[in-house]
This record gives sequence, structure tokens and C-alpha cells, in this order.
Amino acid sequence: METIDECVKILYCEYCKKKFNTKSSLFKHQRVAKYCLVSQGKIEDTRVKIKAKKDEKEEKEKMEKEKIIREKENEKNRNIIRKEKEKEEKREEKEKKRESRYRCEYCNVKFTTRINYCGHIDICLEKYKNIILDKEKIINDLETKFSYGADNKNQDSDQGSTQLLNHEITTKNLLF
Ligand SMILES: [Zn+2]
Ligand SMILES: [Zn+2]
Repeated sequence: METIDECVKILYCEYCKKKFNTKSSLFKHQRVAKYCLVSQGKIEDTRVKIKAKKDEKEEKEKMEKEKIIREKENEKNRNIIRKEKEKEEKREEKEKKRESRYRCEYCNVKFTTRINYCGHIDICLEKYKNIILDKEKIINDLETKFSYGADNKNQDSDQGSTQLLNHEITTKNLLF
């Protein structure tokens, strides 16, 4: 009877609650059954490991994707900033052009409105300096031309005055 009793006695693995009929099978189970060893905390569950690996991979992929998205976002932002900057530059260029439309050609001072520009043009010292310089240049040119002509045509003009003198004499002779 005792043997039968022992045979029917049900043993439970304390770790995984699996049923066993004999102690030896229970001990063997506890030594080799992977899932039990996992329950015992003696080995790491490979499925857990695989899952962890998978999670890690997914996490990595997720991060990679996020990185790409971030980079795209950054690229987009950079583009927006660049466009903004280009717009700003264009605006400045336009502004400059607008300003230089009313730029005093003599002293390079810029004016934002035509009224200001016109007000300045009447009193621009550089403008008057320019005009004076131009006039002086013309005078100098004329003087040079004149003295050059006078030197060369000295004889001619002498002849001219002789002719004029002769003419005068002839006229006098005619009158008297
Ligand atoms: Zn077990
Ligand atoms: Zn000026």
C-alpha cells in the first residue's frame, strides 16, 4: 500500500507549480526544465531576452526614425530660416534700392523720400563744389586753348592786326 500511496502522491514544483508523481522526476525537472529554471531565477528566459532584443531593436529603430524626423524637422526649420533670411535680404535690397533712388549723386547721402531728397539737392555743398570744379575746368581748358592758340597764331594775329590797320587806313583814305 505504501508504494501505491507514494505512487499517487502528487508533488508540485514549488517554482512552476508543475505536477509530478515522483521526487526524482521533480528534481530532474527542477534541474533541466528551462521554464522552471527561469522561474527559479537561475537562467534568463530566452524569450524574454529575445523580446528584450526585439524591444531594443524597435527602440533603436524608433529612435532612428525620430532622429530622421528631427533632422527633417531641422532641415525644414533651416529652410524656413533660410527663406526668411532671403526674404529679409530681398526686403533690405528693395529698401536699399528704394533709398538709393533718392541718393544724392554728389555726396552719396541717401533719402527715403523724394521731398527730403529735393530739399537736400538745393543745399548740397558737394553739388556746388562740383559745379565750381566743372566751371573751373572749363575755364582752365579755355585758357589753355587760348594761350596755346595765341602762341601759335602770334604771327597770324599780327598779320591780322596789320590787315585791320591797313583796312582802317583805306577807310580813312576813302573818307578824307
Ligand atoms: Zn518547476
Ligand atoms: Zn548731396
